[in-house]
Amino acid sequence: MAANGGDHTSARPHVVLLPSAGMGHLVPFARLAVALSEGHGCNVYVAAVQPTVSLAESRLLDALFVAAAPAVRRLDFRLAPFDESEFPGADPFFLRFEATRRSAPLLGPLLDAAEASALVTDIVLASVALPVARERGVPCYVLFTSSAAMLSLCAYFPAYLDAHAAAGSVGVRVGDVDIPGVFRIPKSSVPQALHDPNHLFTKQFVANGRCLVACDGILVNTFDAFEPDAVTALRQGSITVSGGFPPVFTVGPMLPVRFQAEETADYMRWLSAQPPRSVVYVSFGSRKAIPRDQLRELAAGLEASGKRFLWVVKSTIVDRDDTADLGGLLGDGFLERVQGRAFVTMGWVEQEEILQHGSVGLFISHCGWNSLTEAAAFGVPVLAWPRFGDQRVNAALVARSGLGAWEEGWTWDGEEGLTTRKEVANKIKGMMGYDAVAEKAAKVGDAAAAAIGKC
Ligand code: UDP
Repeated sequence: MAANGGDHTSARPHVVLLPSAGMGHLVPFARLAVALSEGHGCNVYVAAVQPTVSLAESRLLDALFVAAAPAVRRLDFRLAPFDESEFPGADPFFLRFEATRRSAPLLGPLLDAAEASALVTDIVLASVALPVARERGVPCYVLFTSSAAMLSLCAYFPAYLDAHAAAGSVGVRVGDVDIPGVFRIPKSSVPQALHDPNHLFTKQFVANGRCLVACDGILVNTFDAFEPDAVTALRQGSITVSGGFPPVFTVGPMLPVRFQAEETADYMRWLSAQPPRSVVYVSFGSRKAIPRDQLRELAAGLEASGKRFLWVVKSTIVDRDDTADLGGLLGDGFLERVQGRAFVTMGWVEQEEILQHGSVGLFISHCGWNSLTEAAAFGVPVLAWPRFGDQRVNAALVARSGLGAWEEGWTWDGEEGLTTRKEVANKIKGMMGYDAVAEKAAKVGDAAAAAIGKC
């Protein structure tokens, strides 16, 4: 990647980016950093917290600062002491969100040092970053790293809670959430944490949702044709009670950035030896471990489908902790039985490269938003299997847009019961090799390409 510019004394705008923890947040910020510095003549500063929660984040930051220097520079964001024991058992990424939120006053000197012309904050830090930017007269934008549908839920949810509280509900129970002008999110698709008003994530989500109207603009990694209802409703201001909403810029699908020209990875060599559109690519993202019994059912389903597959397995939330033995995880003899027609790895893969490869015919995805926008960008059909958080809201968009299918009865975290091997195998067989499935996804890919052309 060639970085141009980098004259940090010139009249180029100085944009400070404030990503949050997790690859799902850092990947779109890295893409934005490169787009702003290379395509829009900005000097970009990325406020980075060290150490990162995961190894993958640390590697991406190192690569970004080396490859994009000097146009993209690092600001060392040191966190204030934070007592994690206040939140026993909390998700390590949510804990980092909170630690970063509580350190927001330390952002001020970084904005001063960068002579910031604008701040772009991650949504999970928005309500605490905005006042710091305001004090300095620095415009504050939000990069929303999930779908426009989730953005509309984020903007609407505080009013939903207020309306229920005003109606006298004691300890509001969250039910279906009908977002004006968008669509009804059934209770079963509302992110698990939001059913608990005292959950750390819920408190952050509501605070950030309330502050959105005061931001100078919101960037969303989506494109109009992918989510026409949500994008229109957000732009018309029909979601908020006041009817007002800042400008919404659809900046997706954000273009992948590749920093190092490494040797061809072994999984890419394997992929290249497979026939066109014959491989099912299976990944549940960068930070999701599937429960052991469900993992075994998935393994058996992939085996029973008779299809070729490339499977990225994770057994812990944080990659640094993942020391499991693959054979032991998937059960006796599994790897031997599928040898030749499958490639199974616990390592980090370059997903965008995989999705661009002509041998991939189907993507079984947890519906992390980056994964879906990458599948959309390359027109790869998706079998949606959401597991937690925003993923069921995103899965609904897979079905609505034509990118793929979602079996709504398949379980996610916190629900009883397993999705069986038979269900998995039948669904794969029902999607792989069907021209109608591939054609619909290809149309989404065409719309994505048109949207990229307009950026
Ligand atoms: N990713 C990757 N290789 C992996 C796992 C993930 O390149 O082995 C990338 C993936 O392409 C996406 C991001 O990491 O850009 C994960 O973000 P997403 O929103 O899809 O899911 P999350 O990991 O946040 O649940």
